[in-house]
Amino acid sequence: MTTSPESASRARVVVLGGGFAGVGAVMKLKQAEADVVLIDRHDYHTFQPLLYQLATGLLETSAVGHSLRDLVQDQDNVTIHKTSVTAIDLDARQVQLEEMAPLTYDYLVLAMGAEVNFFGTEGAAEHAFPMYTLTDAIRLKDHVLGRWEAADKDPSLVEDGALNVVVVGGGPTGVESAGAIAELYRGDFEKDYPSVSQESSRVVLVEAGPEIFSMFKPNLRAYTEEALRKRTVEVITGEVVASVTPTRVTLKSGTEIPAHTLVWGAGLQGNQLVQSLGLELERGNRIGVGPDLAVPGHPEVYAVGDIAAITDARTEHALPQLGSVALQSGEHAGETIARRLRSKEPKPFKYRDKGTMATIGRGAAVVQMLGGKTMKGLKAQAAWGTVHLALLPTNEDRAHAVVDWAGAALTHQRTGRITVKTDDA
Ligand SMILES: Cc1cc2nc3c(=O)[nH]c(=O)nc-3n(C[C@H](O)[C@H](O)[C@H](O)COP(=O)(O)OP(=O)(O)OC[C@H]3O[C@@H](n4cnc5c(N)ncnc54)[C@H](O)[C@@H]3O)c2cc1C
Repeated sequence: MTTSPESASRARVVVLGGGFAGVGAVMKLKQAEADVVLIDRHDYHTFQPLLYQLATGLLETSAVGHSLRDLVQDQDNVTIHKTSVTAIDLDARQVQLEEMAPLTYDYLVLAMGAEVNFFGTEGAAEHAFPMYTLTDAIRLKDHVLGRWEAADKDPSLVEDGALNVVVVGGGPTGVESAGAIAELYRGDFEKDYPSVSQESSRVVLVEAGPEIFSMFKPNLRAYTEEALRKRTVEVITGEVVASVTPTRVTLKSGTEIPAHTLVWGAGLQGNQLVQSLGLELERGNRIGVGPDLAVPGHPEVYAVGDIAAITDARTEHALPQLGSVALQSGEHAGETIARRLRSKEPKPFKYRDKGTMATIGRGAAVVQMLGGKTMKGLKAQAAWGTVHLALLPTNEDRAHAVVDWAGAALTHQRTGRITVKTDDA
């Protein structure tokens, strides 16, 4: 059985993915004469920029994952289904779903984001800890806490590298993760496990290119390296991770690092589902789109956020996979569909660049503005907070975030550093 739009006079817009892009699209369809169906495999929206804070116990799960149903509570024309998209037939205008009848659509928004790319690294799929989903962050936190508890009981594990962490990738995900893990180690764990020597727990950041943060200007790169060094992160550049086992990380040069934890922050690719769409894909498995973000040959289908390769109309370069690009492109698709439902012409997408930014640790961040102006330290961290607050979908969320972030910044307490298992007695 197929579920078709309820009434022939009212269009159905199906939005696949409840990340920044999908939620942006849904919100802009609030006033549209359409039934909007939002599909996500989770019942929450993930605020990915804060995953590393969840992984290191600084924030609780509810500060990083927000109920999707809550977000659209005041939007009468939206229905949410928590299910996985298993296939999309663009010609039949139909979406196949897990444990649900297929859905047909008049308009489709593809906003399923990206997924981790291990570049075929031996053992990475089985043993690495990626940092892309809420589950990834909780898994990493539980694993690291578990290694420290184990080493506390059996000191011989320390020699075996149980507490060493290798982080792969010198981009924002890798740098933020390495900085946060080092702060957790040298701050809280130093007090939590006084019998374990801090010298025996290393945090190593490995980057294949000649430098970390290649997207930033030299002064910000130098600042970042110094901020990481102060936090005792060892930076290795020009090296590639060749293989991973549960206890060892081997670099291409042959160097073997005893480490029971490898955090993967090195690469993303478009959601695997895009390969079955019969579309020509761009670099990184992403869907190329036209100026209005429509998919070539399918004017009723829009691809937005990390799943799309969007060319910046101003610079003619591909836009980066960023929260603000995802939100703005999703909003544009929602607005465009609403316009078309009112028989108005689509407009081209124009990205409003808020700057490139990243945090390294407490009070340490870098910002590079469009015109080339740079900021670092506390000022940059405040700018990061302002830009990222705007990514939250509602004012209520923003108010909560201010309290959570301010609380974490003031108290420095990582109250989330506990492990809760559902099968515990
Ligand atoms: C660790 C990390 C830190 C980051 N830090 C920053 C930062 O500081 N600033 C910044 O601007 N950007 C940052 N980014 C990038 C930013 O988070 C992404 O660009 C943005 O989340 C992309 O949004 P999206 O909506 O395209 O995809 P996503 O947010 O990935 O959303 C995709 C949604 O689709 C759902 N989905 C996927 N496949 C299926 C399926 N088959 N069936 C059903 N549902 C499905 C997923 O559950 C998910 O909810 C960071 C990313 C990461 C991973």
